[in-house]
Amino acid sequence: MFNKASVKKLTSSINGLEVIDFHVHVYPQTPLSAPLAPVRQQLTQWLRPLSKIQQKAVSLSHKIPSSLRMISDEIGIPFLVPHLLIESDVFDLEREMQKESVSRVVVVPHPPLANNDFVFYESKRIQGAIPVVFIDPDTMKSSSDLDAFYNRGVKLFKINPLQSGVPADAPFYRDFLSYLNNKKAILLIHTGALSSRFFRLPNSGHIKEYETWFRNYPEIRFVAAHMNLHEPQEAIQMARKYTNLSLLTSWQPTTALQRAIESLGPTRLLFASDWPLLGENIHTQKERLWTLYQKGILNDEALRLILSGNAKRLLEPLS
Ligand SMILES: [Zn+2]
Repeated sequence: MFNKASVKKLTSSINGLEVIDFHVHVYPQTPLSAPLAPVRQQLTQWLRPLSKIQQKAVSLSHKIPSSLRMISDEIGIPFLVPHLLIESDVFDLEREMQKESVSRVVVVPHPPLANNDFVFYESKRIQGAIPVVFIDPDTMKSSSDLDAFYNRGVKLFKINPLQSGVPADAPFYRDFLSYLNNKKAILLIHTGALSSRFFRLPNSGHIKEYETWFRNYPEIRFVAAHMNLHEPQEAIQMARKYTNLSLLTSWQPTTALQRAIESLGPTRLLFASDWPLLGENIHTQKERLWTLYQKGILNDEALRLILSGNAKRLLEPLS
């Protein structure tokens, strides 16, 4: 445990280091998120304690037996909604980036709330934003649907079978994967099953579902979002096996991050928060890495790599 003053001092030191957040979202403005909404300030304050409770609950959820996760996932997901209503638009993201010294963000669509066109145009409004295109079975038929985005400079893509309802082994993805392999693109994939009826395929998304992709498409730089959620150990093992796979730190508690660093080293981990889904999660993720730095699990160079160095290396061939 560290006292408050030491955490504050250390957090301000981490603020001196460049941070690239490899997974954030941005949503359209709601009446509550409009900059001039009079209740907004108050609501934002009320969200802080909720955010802290949620961060703790997510950390504890790793210890829940899988038989009980149906209940914990189901209860937890509606509590993400207040954050989307109050702090989730382009102005909020810019403010958060400034507050947390984040220089670049990878902005991931979340259809139907935030589709590809929306994310593409909103990303142009934020300095340092890199848009991602979601491969969406509802609106896309073949990889030629990606050309319009690719030709406008988008080189990062995302697949989420849990949300889109098409499992990883469906023929639908083959054409898209060949396209991405030819382009040596970056593909973010949602990893981790979530037992909730809020998703079309609640139990898909486990990292083992994608193993043939990692093997058969060696030119794609795969990025496993959320490190397989409740079962990060499986993501760590997969990354040991396939060097074209990197892992995002989002949703993972300090203990899982420590295990990943000890098992993989620091070069395959990318800082990510999934902001704004848990409120202050950029800050929380930074604090977790800071704790590992203080414990001596990370040295200066390793911390720099996870916060920004690895992301730069991954993004460099695209620019
Ligand atoms: Zn996300």
